[in-house]
Amino acid sequence: MSHELDIIPGTQWGFFTLPRPMCIAGPCSAESEEQVMETARGLAAFGIHVFRAGIWKPRTHPGSFEGVGTPGLKWLRRVKQELGMKVCTEVASEKHVLECIKYGVDVIWIGARTSANPFLMQEIADALEGTDIPVLVKNPVNPDIDLWVGALERLNRAGIRKLGVIHRGFSTSEPIPYRNDPGWRLAIEMRTRYPQMAFFADPSHMAGDRKYLQELSQRAMDLGLDGLMVESHCNPACALSDAKQQLTPEGLQTLLESLVIRDNTSENEAYKDGIEALRTRIDVIDDNLLKLLRERMDVSRSIGQYKKEHNVAILQAGRWEQLLTDMVQRAAAEGISEPAIRAIMTAIHDESVRVQNEVLEA
Ligand code: PEP
Ligand code: MN
Repeated sequence: MSHELDIIPGTQWGFFTLPRPMCIAGPCSAESEEQVMETARGLAAFGIHVFRAGIWKPRTHPGSFEGVGTPGLKWLRRVKQELGMKVCTEVASEKHVLECIKYGVDVIWIGARTSANPFLMQEIADALEGTDIPVLVKNPVNPDIDLWVGALERLNRAGIRKLGVIHRGFSTSEPIPYRNDPGWRLAIEMRTRYPQMAFFADPSHMAGDRKYLQELSQRAMDLGLDGLMVESHCNPACALSDAKQQLTPEGLQTLLESLVIRDNTSENEAYKDGIEALRTRIDVIDDNLLKLLRERMDVSRSIGQYKKEHNVAILQAGRWEQLLTDMVQRAAAEGISEPAIRAIMTAIHDESVRVQNEVLEA
């Protein structure tokens, strides 16, 4: 089934200016009118013009700070009026949507816990029907691209065409330095499926700690993503939520200035000739890889035949483990990473078992 989306690129929404990165910044949570205004002034001072602040906060434990609620929307309206910034916040229900529309919020985003929930997504989409407000959808907490696409489809069917995504990484039980697993593979897949869709990364929620913000932001830019949503607070140490991952406005300015922004492509003739030649080499290598794989499968078929004649089971676990261990070691010597060679060899082995099964069942 195809999942076409009818979307308007972010550059045509009228307020994200190029060059990259398009930047959305502001505190995790709106805490007080003073904190909102001071942070927004600090950000506006160096040209940030889309301000974020959470009004309703999805927290793991009840009793933690759950946001100031509707009164905070008046502070956002003040940011708009006094500083001329666009303002955005997170919605998770019909009530939130209606409040945002009432107070003139310019952009809304859907949080990672909400985009994972089709009931809530439908409720939000229904509430948005007939409006023209841009919506940014964070990836669901679990790495399920279809759930992410489904959330976008619900909004699109409700007539929302100013749609974008925010990649913020995935929950994981693996021990990793970051709060969430960056899982860039899914971002690349999403980008490939919908190349015209405004694409942000949220290095703050990915990192969980400000010390990783630079490397994650640079990675997002190297992957060619359009923008960044970064948490910034006038006094991060006193933040009521996500204190460890927030930057002062000055800190954010330094980070943005440190980023190396490479072009997505180049019209330069020498570049085009060079890349063409390299791609041709890749095509030839891929062709050879295919031939080698076919040859390998032919041998697998013979092995299958041989095992069948001698009444031996197809899967010889010891042999496969040994082969994989050897390949991991040899790949390391060739500069190929362990996860990559494991994934490649596992796929080849699965196909080989399939081919042998075919022989057995013939
Ligand atoms: C947020 O942006 O403050 C937030 C709660 O993010 P996420 O939904 O990515 O956890
Ligand atoms: Mn946060």
